[in-house]
Amino acid sequence: MTIDDAPREALRGNPRELLRWVATGAAVSRADLSRLSGLSPSTVSQRVEALINQGLLEEAGAGQSRGGRRPRQLAVPTGGAVVGAIDLGAHHARIGTLDLSGRVVQGRTLPVRIEDGPETVLGTLLAEVTALASGGAPGASLASGGAAAGALRGVGIGIPGPVQHSTGRIVSPSRMPGWNGFDVAAFCADRVDVPVIVDNDANLMALGAHRTAHAEMDHAVYIKAGTGIGSGVISSGQLHRGAQGSAGDISHCRVVADPAPLCSCGNAGCLEAVASGAALVTALREQGVPVDDLTGVLRLIDDGDRHATALARQAGRAIGEILAVVVNFFNPQVVAIGGRLADCEPLLASMRATLYERCLPLATQTLLIERVATSQDIGITGAAHLVIDHVVSAHP
Ligand SMILES: [Zn+2]
Repeated sequence: MTIDDAPREALRGNPRELLRWVATGAAVSRADLSRLSGLSPSTVSQRVEALINQGLLEEAGAGQSRGGRRPRQLAVPTGGAVVGAIDLGAHHARIGTLDLSGRVVQGRTLPVRIEDGPETVLGTLLAEVTALASGGAPGASLASGGAAAGALRGVGIGIPGPVQHSTGRIVSPSRMPGWNGFDVAAFCADRVDVPVIVDNDANLMALGAHRTAHAEMDHAVYIKAGTGIGSGVISSGQLHRGAQGSAGDISHCRVVADPAPLCSCGNAGCLEAVASGAALVTALREQGVPVDDLTGVLRLIDDGDRHATALARQAGRAIGEILAVVVNFFNPQVVAIGGRLADCEPLLASMRATLYERCLPLATQTLLIERVATSQDIGITGAAHLVIDHVVSAHP
């Protein structure tokens, strides 16, 4: 073991990792867990007992006999225990229930009007999630508890704006009128009797993508480029939030742009004002191209429209410039871009070219630049892992 392996080694065999090995089928017995973790059988047994007592693992019949006593098989309970997840966007929310391994049990997309305000929007979505968990109608489960109370182990919520991690409060979001300062965690805690964890949507995407696609990579950066623009950072295998929870928020980093468009934050030339989906819509309209929304912009680019394609390239360059600073500074193994703009080929090509042009050769030598696998469930998957991590780490 080198010194560099030390932080990851210290985490080996922690309860969350044991749970993940069972959930992914890598381990079915205590002996498997002992082999994978390098921990002694007695330490593994202790941790497994704790996970069983929390209802996060269960013993399922007997395993393959290898002579002598049949080992007891371990499994993640599928009978009822779920976590709820809400991935809130400006116009839609993806909600769902997921099992304790992070697999989607049920998922639904609901229309949302963010301008209706936090009480209405979150109240409705929470009712829908608890109803999914109980298999009943919205409302009934909130009032009566019943089956849902036992089945639902926690709720993870992603917000398309800055979230102060320690409190679960929203701070100065740019496209969420009426939400500034709203205490999402407290509002939800009054309505459901399970842990509620709140984070921003880019962190959720990062966690979901990392756990499903790059779990073995320690250092990764995920860009979420949709109507807005943000990023989530995985450092030493963990979501890196920084002191307040704002780590990775690149939306108001300044890029070279002439003219520099004014941003909703009051500054000019912010990445969000140049390269977000909302910025592309605005810029096209100013050029006299009638376009309704980001879908319209993407359609124009698909059709080879000259103005729209030039703007997409400019957006890709701007994202690449900021990312180059991030890559030089942080030296990740992978940079992956998700969100609706990730499917925009001209944007991706110029982002990639700018990254190679502006980064140190040592930083890009083995750097993977990828798309986040397109899935409407990536956000709720991240939300579920937030909760699963919390539930597991609350019982060391
Ligand atoms: Zn700004």
